[in-house]
Amino acid sequence: KAKAEGRNTVRAFEPAMDAALAERRRLEADLRRALAGDELVLHYQPQVRPACGRLVGFEALVRWRHPSRGLVPPNAFIPLAEETGLILPLGEFVLREACREAARWTLPLKVAVNLSPRQFQQADLPERVLAILTETDLSPDRLEIEITETVIINDMARALSVLRRLKALGIRIAMDDFGTGYSSLATLQAFPFDKIKIDRSFVSQLGERPSAAEIVRAVLGLGRSLRIGVVAEGVETDGQRRFLADEGCEEMQGYLFGKPQPAERLAAMMDGERPATGAVTEG
Ligand code: C2E
Ligand code: MG
Ligand code: MG
Ligand code: MG
Repeated sequence: KAKAEGRNTVRAFEPAMDAALAERRRLEADLRRALAGDELVLHYQPQVRPACGRLVGFEALVRWRHPSRGLVPPNAFIPLAEETGLILPLGEFVLREACREAARWTLPLKVAVNLSPRQFQQADLPERVLAILTETDLSPDRLEIEITETVIINDMARALSVLRRLKALGIRIAMDDFGTGYSSLATLQAFPFDKIKIDRSFVSQLGERPSAAEIVRAVLGLGRSLRIGVVAEGVETDGQRRFLADEGCEEMQGYLFGKPQPAERLAAMMDGERPATGAVTEG
């Protein structure tokens, strides 16, 4: 009886598996086409120093303008790109596009680019980045590379060597989503990060969970002791902004200051126009 049930379970499960696999294959084929065409676009989210109201840079975030699915967010295709290796050409596109865009800005602000673990495994990554900086004529000190802890955990020695060589070029390195991975303190000690980005999950719980406030305080204290800049990501409310500012957080990013937006909208922001909080919609 158990055997019969087991078979039934498998049978019921298979069509769903097939459908998921077919959908995955379709998405992969679509993504290849997207890379060859011009369906991938970058949106840019402002990073600010609220105390003086100063704009310090933008984080480039990739979107996929899919002909039938609409604007697809990165979480829906970056993991697939990672698995299939498409992240390498995709990542190179993002880096080149972000540098080219930043080189055109009317102010010499920083541009932050997310790099995935697979990209970081390329031993020649520093040379590739340097080639793009040269090609786009962007000064290395205007580029900030964001990596997560997963990058480091895979192969610590190689990651450290790549990171040191990037830093030697004058590029800044930020640790993204801080607090969500593991061995955070050990990696902070071993790796020469210029910046820590407190994960949005802690920021969004400010005012709701007392422990979130304690964690944010601790990270800010850590940044001060290690002399590493701390950015809070996902700041959405004035209450969050005030708490963070009172605790000494100088740099912030979040919907309160502006959503990620197309390159065309950046010039207006740089001309001193205040980002319309809340009014800015993506897409
Ligand atoms: P991330 O690097 O941590 O980027 C921040 C994410 O939080 C972005 O989502 C941004 O739109 C969102 N966000 C910013 N402020 C707020 C806020 O106040 N409230 C809320 N609810 N969300 C906020 P997005 O653009 O969907 O990107 C998600 C993730 O996808 C990124 O997280 C990053 O890990 C990855 N990603 C995006 N672009 C790229 C890329 O070009 N290459 C790679 N490898 N990964 C990318
Ligand atoms: Mg990021
Ligand atoms: Mg982040
Ligand atoms: Mg994040």
